[in-house]
Amino acid sequence: MAASKSFLDSLKKPEPTSFKMTDFRRELHLRHKRDEHAKKERMKALQESKLISKYAITIDTSRARSNCDVLRMCVKELGFKEYPFGRKDNCCDVHWHACHFEDNPEVYGGKVNKFSGMGEICSKMTLFRCLDIMRDLFPTDYDFYPRTWYLPAQFHEFSCEIRKMHERRVKPKPTFIVKPDTGAQGDGIYLLREPNEYSSFNGKCHVAQEYMSNVYLIDKFKFDFRIYVLLKSLEPLEFYICQEGLARFSTLPYENPTNKNIHESFMHLTNYSLNKRSSTFNRSDRDDEGSKRTLTSVLRRIAMNGHDSNKVWKSIERIVCKTIVAIVPEMKVEYQAAVPPGKTGPSCFQVLGFDILLLHNLKPILLEINASPSLSLDSEQEVSPGVFEYVISPKDEEVKYPLIRDTLLHVVPIDKLKYFRKRKKRRLLKKLKASSSQKMKRPEPLVKQRTSIVIIKADESDEEKREVNVTQQMSEMHMDIDSSASHGESTARDANSDDERESNLKSDTELDEEVDNYFETKLRESCLKQLYPAIYDEECERYRILERVAGLFIYFLGIRGSLRIGPTGFRTFARKCRLNRKGMTNASVDIMYIDLQRRWDHMNPERTSGLCYQGFLDACIEIARRKFYAPSKIEMLENLVDHCELSLNLKDNDLANNLPRLHFRRLGLQYRQGSLYAMPRRIMEQMTEETTIEDLLKAHEKKLRQPSKEDIESFLRRSRRTIYQPSSTAAVLSAHRSPDSE
Ligand code: ADP
Repeated sequence: MAASKSFLDSLKKPEPTSFKMTDFRRELHLRHKRDEHAKKERMKALQESKLISKYAITIDTSRARSNCDVLRMCVKELGFKEYPFGRKDNCCDVHWHACHFEDNPEVYGGKVNKFSGMGEICSKMTLFRCLDIMRDLFPTDYDFYPRTWYLPAQFHEFSCEIRKMHERRVKPKPTFIVKPDTGAQGDGIYLLREPNEYSSFNGKCHVAQEYMSNVYLIDKFKFDFRIYVLLKSLEPLEFYICQEGLARFSTLPYENPTNKNIHESFMHLTNYSLNKRSSTFNRSDRDDEGSKRTLTSVLRRIAMNGHDSNKVWKSIERIVCKTIVAIVPEMKVEYQAAVPPGKTGPSCFQVLGFDILLLHNLKPILLEINASPSLSLDSEQEVSPGVFEYVISPKDEEVKYPLIRDTLLHVVPIDKLKYFRKRKKRRLLKKLKASSSQKMKRPEPLVKQRTSIVIIKADESDEEKREVNVTQQMSEMHMDIDSSASHGESTARDANSDDERESNLKSDTELDEEVDNYFETKLRESCLKQLYPAIYDEECERYRILERVAGLFIYFLGIRGSLRIGPTGFRTFARKCRLNRKGMTNASVDIMYIDLQRRWDHMNPERTSGLCYQGFLDACIEIARRKFYAPSKIEMLENLVDHCELSLNLKDNDLANNLPRLHFRRLGLQYRQGSLYAMPRRIMEQMTEETTIEDLLKAHEKKLRQPSKEDIESFLRRSRRTIYQPSSTAAVLSAHRSPDSE
């Protein structure tokens, strides 16, 4: 103001020219400098804010509800940015919902921790139906869950089975467990021995299962495992198993079911939410004691009892793989309805809870999948009779905290994570350099980082335990750093003279390597182990046939985002797949459609028109049985799907659409089933870079005529044209509809 005033004054009052001009120039110069300075400051602030918003890893926890505590702890430790009330633009890297994908329909990007329709898919009826279909195709491989009936629809079959068992005088007397379709936490579950004991309240649907009475006991109690699985992506399929879980114990010593004890839920059910109300619930904090224990402690106990716990764990891993593969086709159908191709939508991941029971012979049995497993860290404690207090349960924390932390590390954007690591690394390096020049002092940032975790923990006695734990971890880390710092046998601390110390100072590159190694080890320490594709890729490949059927279903849906195929879509399917050449007339196609629609009516409570995916699958199985006869069901279905895919390829004659979905993996090229366009695996295994697209299509066609091995080999030997271009395949892949690409 003063400056402008003097400037105006100078204009009004004529002064001696020389004085006026110097004043004016000085004033102008000062102003200019001031503006420059302000501009620089503004730019700096802007740059900083841009830097933060661009690289900060943002987590929306506004809908996390009971997951909030553990999520918040992880977000804090990892240094990510939490949005407890969400962001106005709904633009976070991760949106954490406690229940459903549909919780926030406004999310168009980032990642959501729920798949669309997963709650429904994991409901007992849908899950066991999916597994039943697989059991039908692979009877010996899908034998890891109890026989199931769907009530009231299958009440007649259920009663007949019980009657037959009675007639055969099966010993011990068979018992069944009835569970509400969408129930949880043991609600509404009861055991029965006679069909007339079944009662369907309010027309609710139930599943009835064989009650597995010969279970493995520990300290005379029945227990089941809660195994956590991270389903990271659907296309390509990728999932991980958490190597730590929980074991939930019943609170009354177990006895085989009798008419007398059949109603004792604290004996037959192992749900924590139910047993915590029992007066005999044991809240011991010791790992291998109490009504809730860690999975590893129970596996250790099994090993101590002289059994092979590794074998048990491997069987559990296999069950997880087979179950996920069984539900993936349904998930794909649901996903395309929630995020139809062309619509921007978030990609999804999900933490699932598998409940697994161990039989007396240590065979694991799948009981159910929880789409929203409890991630709460609280447990109730009775401080005085009838007065309960919520305290942090160390066992829950030990399992759920690393699970969520590592889940977040797996799903946040990789480029941001890289930058984030770099920043952490820079800070760590700076401290290390400073400390290495000061007699190799212990690096402080790590200490701070770890102690911040300790503060969050609640219980005092635990705090001590954890502090020891943390100090151990720190010292291990320092040992690492120190040991790599040492040259030969001498360490920096041993060096007394300044000269010696100088010689022990690490160069920048050495420090750099150390810090890199540190982060590498931290990453490797993840509690999540990749099951698919890393380990069970090949083993599960043959189970993925139904994804191809789901691919056909989605292809012919007609209306994008729909869940049911109409009569026109079904007719188009028959026409385009040239089923008429196999002797199916239009009339027989229509009759089959009407017939199946009626049969699947119970899966359509809203009475919308159309046939659901499972009805379509039934149709495919029926067509395969009639027109593609082979010794086994799976071969029939494979023949039908191969035929349909081939017909579609030839019809469209469009390479972009006809290319089978290929995947580059490890050193070679391998074909992964699960896409719409499939190839015989044998051929794909022998495929080289010189194999052409035409060759593949010919090979596919030949497969239908059952070529011999020599046929295929000679065919591949003959194919030497090099049209096959990895880059063009990638382009085609990206053009192909991809429900949930990572
Ligand atoms: P919820 O979803 O209500 O927890 P679950 O299917 O997990 O229902 O069953 C609850 C409990 O009942 C299990 O934890 C297990 O102890 C027991 N249970 C369930 N099914 C069976 C079965 N087929 N055989 C023996 N026990 C079972």
